[in-house]
Amino acid sequence: MAFGITVLGGGSRGNSLLVHTSDSGLLIDAGFSRKEILRRLVKSNIDPALVRLILVTHEHQDHVKGCRILSDHLKIPVCASYKTFEYLRSERDEKWENTRIFSPGSTFDFETFTISPFSVQHDSIDPVGFVIEHQNFKVGVATDLGCVNELVKRRLTDCDALILESNYDMDMLRAAPRSLSLKRRIMGRHGHLDNREAIDALPELLTARTKALFLTHISSECNDGNLVRKLAEDKLHDLGRADIVLNIVEQDEPSGTVWM
Ligand SMILES: [Zn+2]
Ligand SMILES: [Zn+2]
Repeated sequence: MAFGITVLGGGSRGNSLLVHTSDSGLLIDAGFSRKEILRRLVKSNIDPALVRLILVTHEHQDHVKGCRILSDHLKIPVCASYKTFEYLRSERDEKWENTRIFSPGSTFDFETFTISPFSVQHDSIDPVGFVIEHQNFKVGVATDLGCVNELVKRRLTDCDALILESNYDMDMLRAAPRSLSLKRRIMGRHGHLDNREAIDALPELLTARTKALFLTHISSECNDGNLVRKLAEDKLHDLGRADIVLNIVEQDEPSGTVWM
């Protein structure tokens, strides 16, 4: 059975993507409103009833905004780490009822998918990336991380599809009208990946089996999608991998489905 990836959108104003077969899917993050996620699913020709579980990377609003309401609406569980739920319940005083807990580092099965959450460095309670496997297909996702450390490399190497953050351009961030402390936080090892770090990681992460690359969480103020595309195309060309389908994720519209 074919395996599809549909990124509903990515950026500081919301992140959500679907890993799916033709009859079942996992949503990774629901950082838009319920209404907006449903709109984007329909626009992508995906029946919302296909979504069976919402996986949460971390508690930042651009990743959880619509989670609870979408979970109620679709009558499906939200799956996050214990610490992430603890924070959402205590700090935000929210009732999260239909929940499942995962432990970063522990693999579990859900329907036909095998899900491996792994820890990443980011300024949140218990941030994770995911590797999702289905039959012989494997997709790796890391959308908010301050560095590509050894664990991240181990998890994200040799995927059929890779979804990686390419948040900011260093010069644009330096020149941006933001406080020095915020710039330091973004640039730090618990912040976000800049274009150079993301592109430099590709030679190690991409292997002969890799068919698709999505670069996401592109800053609207401190980056430019065309620049990210150019850097990635040049790197793929240098690697002799112009065959890899490259997708530069937009904030406002879904990517379209890549089937493999
Ligand atoms: Zn974040
Ligand atoms: Zn984010």
